[in-house]
Amino acid sequence: MEFISTRGKVEKIGFIDTVLMGLADDGGLLIPAQIPQIPQDKLQQMASMTYQELAYEVFSLYTNDEIPQDDLKSLIRDSYATFRDPEVTPVRKVTDNMHVMELFHGPTFAFKDIALQFLGNLYSYVSKKKNTIIHILGATSGDTGASAIEGVRGKEGIRICILHPHQKVSKVQELQMTTVNDENVLNLSVKGTFDDCQRIIKDLFADVEFKNKYHLRAINSINFVRILAQTVYYFYAYFKVAGASSAQTVNFSVPTGNFGDIFAGYLAKRMGLPVGKLILATNENNILERFIQEGVYKPGQFVSTYSPSMDIQVASNFERYLYYLVGEDAEKVASYMAQFKAEGEIRISEELLGQVQQDFAAHGVSGDECLQTISSYYKNNDYLLDPHTACGVAAYEKRNPQDEVCVTLATAHPAKFNESIEKCDIEQTFPEQIAALMDKPQYQTVVDDSEKEIVERLEKFYTIG
Ligand SMILES: *Cc1c(COP(=O)(O)O)cnc(C)c1O
Repeated sequence: MEFISTRGKVEKIGFIDTVLMGLADDGGLLIPAQIPQIPQDKLQQMASMTYQELAYEVFSLYTNDEIPQDDLKSLIRDSYATFRDPEVTPVRKVTDNMHVMELFHGPTFAFKDIALQFLGNLYSYVSKKKNTIIHILGATSGDTGASAIEGVRGKEGIRICILHPHQKVSKVQELQMTTVNDENVLNLSVKGTFDDCQRIIKDLFADVEFKNKYHLRAINSINFVRILAQTVYYFYAYFKVAGASSAQTVNFSVPTGNFGDIFAGYLAKRMGLPVGKLILATNENNILERFIQEGVYKPGQFVSTYSPSMDIQVASNFERYLYYLVGEDAEKVASYMAQFKAEGEIRISEELLGQVQQDFAAHGVSGDECLQTISSYYKNNDYLLDPHTACGVAAYEKRNPQDEVCVTLATAHPAKFNESIEKCDIEQTFPEQIAALMDKPQYQTVVDDSEKEIVERLEKFYTIG
């Protein structure tokens, strides 16, 4: 498979170069030149596969001959061997028509592990095979950082630096990142917001000379591998719920921030999986809900909520969907994005809006609704939802679905967000791995929201040893 940019100004490149490039050099996002189609009889065979076997089927459509079969198989095996559940992403029936797919059984208890365990191993593989230096640089609102660090800590040939907003991540998220004492890990705690961290990272990646000099690599969901790894569990859940009969469609409700996870569902659908509606769940940061309801993509006022990993105003993966929406026309995408930059908004036609609403439904969930949903499912269904998953469940309910079957994606374990669970007067017991974090020493450097200071720290870190 070859890959192209949504803005059309990058020569076709292969899978590994796509991983290394991260953000496309023309400022767009990398996508497959054609979406591979899975024929009906293949889908039927896939229905009885294990998670790892499905991952192999899906990945190999994109990696082709760049990663030999046995290497790909062992990368997959190693990446999912760290999960606490043998099914990797088990699916629980919670009400008659609503299932919850638990994506939080990886090392850091959030769904980011599914892609980042694999990406960490892949970076390590590429570093050895191509003898290239991998210096990972990323910003996090909490979960991506913990997960990315866990994916590469102690690995040879790789260094990772993560910026997080000082004292603005949950306690468990902070501990997961900062109790790691490997030499190849640097945590910078920035006196600012997540948007400040993200802006600095974007500036550094946009400086192609700096990016190349220090071999900077991305781990956020602009990296196509993140999307690819996440398509697998849509297949897994579909077969769990619908079996081999592709007569049935299944809806998915997805707690959304950067549009990465739900875009993976869209990709699975375009590959041939009978996905019904993709229900996009947001909190009060509801730019995407407004886009899907009204056809206007325009950032609003940032709000801090109980579901901080969804507190995002500009959804970086939105551009990937926009590309397919406008009929794979890179020039149109480039002009929409230029318009966004100049005017701060994108407006689409009635006709395109009709298409959007075929693909997606969207519901925003308030803080009170989020907490009420946690309380009610705990009381009535004996199931404890984390605040992000609760947004997904509440959005499913708002759709008032009658007899549609839906899988809600559980993106984090409730123990990661005890601040919100306590607000519902629920006392949870922590998994031992999380409880053990509380006594460990922390390693982090607190820095000002200053690009200059951060660059100095990075130059030192990337050149030691
Ligand atoms: C990252 C994250 C999300 C949002 O996922 P996107 O791919 O950015 O839409 C939702 N819930 C949790 C717990 C997360 O960590």
